[in-house]
Amino acid sequence: MPDEASTPTAAHELAEAVAGLAATLRFHRDLGVKDLPLEGRYLLEPDDALRAQEAALQGCRRCKLCEGRATIVFGAGNPRADLLVIGEGPGADEDAQGLPFVGRAGQLLTRMLAARGVGFTRDEVYVTNAVKCRPPGNRNPEAEELATCAPFLAAQLRAIQPKVVLALGSVATQALLRTREPIGKLRGRVHPFGAAVLIPTFHPAFLLRNPGDEYKRMAWDDLKLARREYDSRRAR
Ligand code: SF4
Repeated sequence: MPDEASTPTAAHELAEAVAGLAATLRFHRDLGVKDLPLEGRYLLEPDDALRAQEAALQGCRRCKLCEGRATIVFGAGNPRADLLVIGEGPGADEDAQGLPFVGRAGQLLTRMLAARGVGFTRDEVYVTNAVKCRPPGNRNPEAEELATCAPFLAAQLRAIQPKVVLALGSVATQALLRTREPIGKLRGRVHPFGAAVLIPTFHPAFLLRNPGDEYKRMAWDDLKLARREYDSRRAR
């Protein structure tokens, strides 16, 4: 039986595998090989990965939201964004244009992101939704619809690898954090979210329906918190 000192550790095995790969690459370089014919989604750049995902999603009929949609609203923005904004689902304007957050709520989102002390442009972030097809009558997506569409959002997250996720509204926040806690209790805090952090805030459509200063101020605080996390995580 090998003693502990001679038992290979995972780190040792990984080091040997990397050394083996390096030796193989040197061997091929010395033979004059200039290009490695490697193919696979794992090697795609974020923009190519997102383009491939969007193309693969066309015609999706995995949940009943396909029945009322005009377009699949995949997402838009910077594929290398460090801030990923996630709402719950497309509305009528988004469904018609095939782009996320382009209606009144989207215009408010743009202003919220650009607010004093926040300072993001839509071009530097990536914006998407938890479900990619418009729920009829703008109802909330159902749990089954969210679960069916979740792998597509997960794939976007893997491609973009954001440092901060801004979740808009209770539906998206609860789905992402797998909790039933109300948004009022979840917001105002930084939640661990894989290699990133998630910051919940109110959905802009909610702020349009509740135009008082109180909710606006809370949303502004959340966005400033997102900015601070964004800056500090990018500086590491
Ligand atoms: S919401 Fe998602 S899972 Fe459902 S049909 Fe649209 S793309 Fe497919």
